[in-house]
Parts: sequence; structure tokens; C-alpha cells
Amino acid sequence: MNSPLKWDVLLSSQIPVVTSELPPGASEMKWSPISSTLISGERDAVLVDTFITMEQNRVLADWIAASGKNLTTIYATHGHGDHFFGVNTIQRRFPNARFVASRDAISVMRQQLSPPVLGAYWKSRFPGQIDPTLVIAEELAGDVIQLEGEELVSIPTGHTDTRSTTCLHVPSIGLVVSGDVVYNDVHIHLGESTADSRKEWIAALNMIESLKPRAVVAGHKRPGRPDAPAIIEETRQYIRGFDKIAADSETPEELYSRMFALYPNRVNPAVLWSSARGVTIDRSRPAHSI
Ligand SMILES: [Zn+2]
Repeated sequence: MNSPLKWDVLLSSQIPVVTSELPPGASEMKWSPISSTLISGERDAVLVDTFITMEQNRVLADWIAASGKNLTTIYATHGHGDHFFGVNTIQRRFPNARFVASRDAISVMRQQLSPPVLGAYWKSRFPGQIDPTLVIAEELAGDVIQLEGEELVSIPTGHTDTRSTTCLHVPSIGLVVSGDVVYNDVHIHLGESTADSRKEWIAALNMIESLKPRAVVAGHKRPGRPDAPAIIEETRQYIRGFDKIAADSETPEELYSRMFALYPNRVNPAVLWSSARGVTIDRSRPAHSI
């Protein structure tokens, strides 16, 4: 039986980031494009992830309104602010939409709203642009969102770009909305990773691959690039490469330049720079460990 569900993706604009943490040779940084996915039936729809700034999220709300669908639910794949700061803007336009996430992702959201993170990290990077009302999700009971009789299943993926991440699987249409477990030709945020958590990340990618999806929507993607399952392997290769180079680099600068040489064209090298600075260079363990 053909599923009546359809899906569509809106990418955020790449907005400037106020920061002095720029990679060697760079004079500015922009945030990676963020994806928001609308999964819709004949009448109702579910939104997966939002954007950062009020302006970006107004564009997102207009896009949802243009679909003509009744938004019932907003789901956040994980607790990073760049994927849920838009909920208030969306709920003002769609007051009946409930906001849900996994219990563990909600604990990451709470940390993101604590003053040291919200003020020192997010508001300093996007001054005056973040909604003063930030909403924390309710726990999604039972891991399933119903949409016109079809199931959207929240699957825990452990520590990937941060702790307690998930993806949303829609078996009837072979869709995985991966959040930041999979990246699509954008430099990968590894700054919160360790050698152990990178193994967990590889396992999450293997799990998503085992679902045999027909499409995978990455949380950050290059505009225009297809949502092809091949991005699972591309992400795995990138993380393995990073893990190997991190194991025998002397400095963040060396890690950055060796990875950049492998991936000169990925979107947003500033993310690679923050990854290189964020990880502990550990030369006590062997390479090729994952
Ligand atoms: Zn993230």
C-alpha cells in the first residue's frame, strides 16, 4: 500500500557568527545551513527541527503556512540550540503544535538554556537575534509520533555530535531524518567527541544504514545536495579520518590542516577548526581504532 505521507526540507540561510575563533587564514564565520523537515499527510504535518534566529524561524513559519497543512507536532532530534530555538516562533503561528523530544535530549536542552551556555555561547554569537522566549520540549512518551495513522519513530543514537541524540524514522516512506548523526557535505561538529564517543557515532551510522532508508535528511547540508543514503558512508569516512588523524597529530593546527587537505570543499571549515580545538589530542592510543 502506498503511504500517503510526503516530506520536504527547508534549509536555513547561512548567517554570520560573531566570534574570534576563526580558522587559520579566515576573516569571518557563518553558521552551517540547518535543515528543517516537514513530514505531511493529507491534512496534518509534523516538523522536525527548527532554526536559530527569530528571522530564520519567521521564514520557516511562512514555509510551513504555505504548505497549507495543520501542524500538529514539532520534534527536535537532539538538544543543541540551533535545532530548537525556533519553537516559540513556530508555536505562535501554529498554537496547536506540541513540542516533543526524547527525555535525554530534553536534559541537553536544559543545559543549553543555562546561563553559561545560552549567554556565553549562543547570545554572544547571535546578539539580539535569539528569541527571548525559548521553549523546552515535553517528553515524547512511547517513542512514536502518529501522523494520520502512520508511525514516525524516534530512535536513540547515543553520543554523536553531542550526547543523547536521536533520529526520526518513517518506515512507510523509507525516510530517516537524522539530525546531526549524519552530515551532508558540511564539516562535522566533532568538538564534543572523544575516541570512545566516536565509536558510538560510527555504531549509530551503522544502525541508520541497517534501516535501509531511501532518503536521509542531514541536520546540516549543502544547499542543493540530494538527501541520498550515500551520505551515511561519507559521514563514517570523515569521522574515521578525523579519529585517525587526531591520534597522531601534535597540535590542533596540524589536525585542522591535515583534515582540511582531505576535505577542502566541505561547507564551513570553521566547524573543523572548532572540532580540532575541542578534542584532546591523544597520542597514547593506536590509530585505526574504529
Ligand atoms: Zn547538533
